[in-house]
Amino acid sequence: MDKEAKLYIVATPIGNLEDISARAIAVLREVDLVAAEDTRHSAKLMQHFAITTPLTSHHDFSSDTEIQRLLDELAAGKSIALISDAGTPLISDPGYPLVAKARALGIQVLPVPGPSAVIAALSVAGIACDSFRFEGFLPAKSSQRCKRLQQLAVESSTLVFYESPHRIAASLADMASVLTDSSSRRIFIARELTKKFESHFLGSVDESIAWVQADDNNSRGEFVLVLEGAQQAGDDEKVAELRRARAVARLLLQDLSTKRAVALAAEITGVRKNALYTLMLEDED
Ligand code: SAM
Repeated sequence: MDKEAKLYIVATPIGNLEDISARAIAVLREVDLVAAEDTRHSAKLMQHFAITTPLTSHHDFSSDTEIQRLLDELAAGKSIALISDAGTPLISDPGYPLVAKARALGIQVLPVPGPSAVIAALSVAGIACDSFRFEGFLPAKSSQRCKRLQQLAVESSTLVFYESPHRIAASLADMASVLTDSSSRRIFIARELTKKFESHFLGSVDESIAWVQADDNNSRGEFVLVLEGAQQAGDDEKVAELRRARAVARLLLQDLSTKRAVALAAEITGVRKNALYTLMLEDED
């Protein structure tokens, strides 16, 4: 294999074309081939920056044969740049199998860093980002989404989700119903980052529902949700009460179903059933 062959993973703008880096433009010009998620979409970006490098398609449904074709090009000494429709490839975007296989073959894989909606949103949220957990898109079905949210409810790190306009209202409603602290837990909604109609919301999960309902435009476009982490266990008396209730529920579990044990333990100790149920899920992890 030619030593010069390189696979570049190139970040492109998430809205504002001026966010492209000088190096991204240079690399896109210099490589032999640009592999793009949607060639028609990326042709516009290339045209805007007068980049004439040939484009080929690479997406989530690319077959093993198509991936192999790119690996063969690399093995023959050609350099390839991978781009997605917006932001950083592989971050809720195609490219993982290609990168993994290229690495396994000893091909150099180099990042050309730049925009990514997750980092852009975190950087302006005003919610702690010293530790965060990126979850990508929540499941599309409400039942699955609630299940996932229940599993995440006790996570103390900040949580970041991508969301589409079709599901923003439903996802926030599910968060409000699953999170027992939805009246106090803060959420930052980043809408249309870097674009003309960019807007932000910061408030409680409960308040966010009213924000979306207040204006039809608030449910249009692209969204990142930055959800504050759960309060650290042991922080307050409520958590201590919940732990006592969990101990009771664990005893009852010896003879009863989880549902019944949680209901009875909640009644005996006076804690909220949903909060106790969420805590019990930790035992299943
Ligand atoms: N790879 C991209 C990145 O690095 O951010 C993400 C691709 S993912 C398929 C697309 C999702 O990212 C959108 O549905 C939205 O949740 C989020 N997103 C992308 N651009 C955005 C923007 N300008 N404002 C808010 N969210 C955005």
